[in-house]
Amino acid sequence: MIIKDRDYPIRLRKLEALINRLYDHNSKLPLIKDDYKGWKSGYKGELNTDYRLSFLPEKDYWILRDLRLTDDSWKFQIDTLILTRRYFLLIETKNHSGALLFEKDSEQMIQTKQDKEKAYDHPVIQVNKQKWHFNRWLQANNFKVPLIHTLVVISNSSTIIKTDDPFLYKYVVKGDVLVDRIMKIDTNHFNEFFQDKDLKKISKTLVKKHSPFHPDILKIYSLSPADLQKGVQCPSCSYFGMKRMKWIWVCPHCLLRSKAAHHSAVLDYFLLIKPTMTNQELKDFLLLPTSRSSGNLLSTLNLPFSGATKGRVYHMPKDKETFFHLKSPKKN
Ligand SMILES: [Zn+2]
Repeated sequence: MIIKDRDYPIRLRKLEALINRLYDHNSKLPLIKDDYKGWKSGYKGELNTDYRLSFLPEKDYWILRDLRLTDDSWKFQIDTLILTRRYFLLIETKNHSGALLFEKDSEQMIQTKQDKEKAYDHPVIQVNKQKWHFNRWLQANNFKVPLIHTLVVISNSSTIIKTDDPFLYKYVVKGDVLVDRIMKIDTNHFNEFFQDKDLKKISKTLVKKHSPFHPDILKIYSLSPADLQKGVQCPSCSYFGMKRMKWIWVCPHCLLRSKAAHHSAVLDYFLLIKPTMTNQELKDFLLLPTSRSSGNLLSTLNLPFSGATKGRVYHMPKDKETFFHLKSPKKN
């Protein structure tokens, strides 16, 4: 059963907002679009794994998707965690296409695609590192530690796997045989290490301690707010700089009138600049003429805030998906 689902990744939302607001001539745009493609493909791979795992019997497999936990001063992330009464399983999904060479000695994964080679961290080492942290996390939270298995899933069925490591196939599987492999792991475990009430306690703590990552996307690409186009974007012709009339936004380019066009600009501010804003910051970003007009907008937005009227700080809503009516493009 699904204990914790996967959200649409915040990094993808941030990259989408960034690509949309950067000027076309920005020299970093091709690299950012390339990164976006990579992250998007990774997410698709994770959704494929989710779908494949949906064939496991509900009752015996407690599934937590996309966890980010703290072990001392380290943060570690788990793609998919399966808890059973007999053992735990960590799954890391890779969705690379082309051919993947897993090199034992250099501890790299080398992708060959259209005659180009690219090196990545070895995912088996990656997932074992997660296992090490997770083991410590369980102990630190006073839970018993069962046998913890790890698997790397190669999600793309046309990807070719090559290796010089005779034991690689113990830890790396193609997506279409993932469930078979889990069944095989099952056959080696008869003794129940936990009861359902233990799993309940552990999963509750995992969900509570999950802390989503909010990367500073401008910093990652050494960009500054000056690299972004400001203003409210026209939902019809994409022009930046809709004009605020008394109650409505008007596009000077295509003359579209909109009541809610500022919503996505407010979200962009939170995603790209920082998760809080003041009246003045909103006024600047939306290119509003007066603080009074930005104040009016803020009062209709109903954002969570802190502080008294003067110097009040508005915060990104915790559940931004619902607040901004965002659709998660899920594919199953
Ligand atoms: Zn327009």
